[in-house]
Amino acid sequence: MNMVDIDKPIGYGAFGVVWAVKDPRDGKQVALKKMPNVFHNIMSAKRVLRELKMLCYFNHENVLSAVDVLPPVDSPYEEMYVITQLMHTDLHKIIVSQQPLTSDHLRLFLYQILRGLKYLHGAHILHRDVKPGNLLINSDCRLKICDFGLARLEEPDQSKYMTQEVVTQYYRAPELLLGARHYGAAVDIWSVGCIFAELLARRILFQANSPVAQIDMIYNLLGDRKTAVPLSQSSSNSRDRQSRAQLYKSVSRLPAPPSTFYHLAPHMTHESAHLLSRLLVWNPEKRVSCTEALRHVYLREGRLRYHTSLCRCCFIAADGIRHASEHEFEPVPDRVFNDSYEDQLHSVEDVRNAVTEFINSQPCGRKVPLRINPDSVVFPRFVASTVAHSQPATSPNA
Ligand SMILES: [Zn+2]
Repeated sequence: MNMVDIDKPIGYGAFGVVWAVKDPRDGKQVALKKMPNVFHNIMSAKRVLRELKMLCYFNHENVLSAVDVLPPVDSPYEEMYVITQLMHTDLHKIIVSQQPLTSDHLRLFLYQILRGLKYLHGAHILHRDVKPGNLLINSDCRLKICDFGLARLEEPDQSKYMTQEVVTQYYRAPELLLGARHYGAAVDIWSVGCIFAELLARRILFQANSPVAQIDMIYNLLGDRKTAVPLSQSSSNSRDRQSRAQLYKSVSRLPAPPSTFYHLAPHMTHESAHLLSRLLVWNPEKRVSCTEALRHVYLREGRLRYHTSLCRCCFIAADGIRHASEHEFEPVPDRVFNDSYEDQLHSVEDVRNAVTEFINSQPCGRKVPLRINPDSVVFPRFVASTVAHSQPATSPNA
């Protein structure tokens, strides 16, 4: 069956173009993502295969997943097509809009972000680019985490080098800015703290114009106020850099008190400041996990609201809320994501064969297989649509 109704482009990410299309099998609107130049080099090819496998592995209400993977149009092919659920907007667009955001909205959004992230971390996956633009929202306030272009498995071996070229700068954790060679799920938690503060204040918390100014800005909030540093473009001399390094080492290993965060937004409550103080901790080892953050009193109402009106895991009995017995409120996957297949991939051709094999192995169930229709009116425009940004030249394993 042909994919005839390619409608309009709805987004351009770092790694592909997303179009809104109609699934001819059921008439539902879905998102069609084109991943171009997949086999440009082995790094980008492995990254795309990993993202594809993750999208097909995910099964959680707050994480975007694949509805279908389409077979390639040409042979040999350079592009991949994945269908996912269609979402109306994203959190960045909402934050910069005029739309009022109540504290109920904030609690519901933050609850779903942490619920989705707990699932990812439960699969041992680090997202590594959590930011408002990667949090998709529907008109009924359902939220899904998307864009797994930089995601990878946790690295249990502390001696293995991991790239610092991850996470959009404004949401980048201090350990990444300071060049940590090994890091974990706490980098995503830092990003959530930044997003929570941004939701409260409706402006970016740490909006610096360089990575050096970024770490200075974080230090000025969480470090010793008496030794605040001027925001800089770059550290100009080695003495300056050394004294900064000393300052950064002096930052308390403990979370800052909630009072540190009161001035960040006009209607900051003690509860929200307290949760911020647990998310935005300089020392990654002292930052809360998703599971701990989800226990915070601030999220109680968000959980209640989510599980009374939006979730698929609960049903309401005559005596009020009733939880479906086989589920947790915030479930984790029953198996971790497995990336051991990557050991067998040594060339672009290896990856191409693995992608083909993977697409062919996807169960169709009772669904009619879909394919792109190159004769449709908008196909030339679709094929010509390109990505907005170039891809980073980092290894997908790093
Ligand atoms: Zn539920």
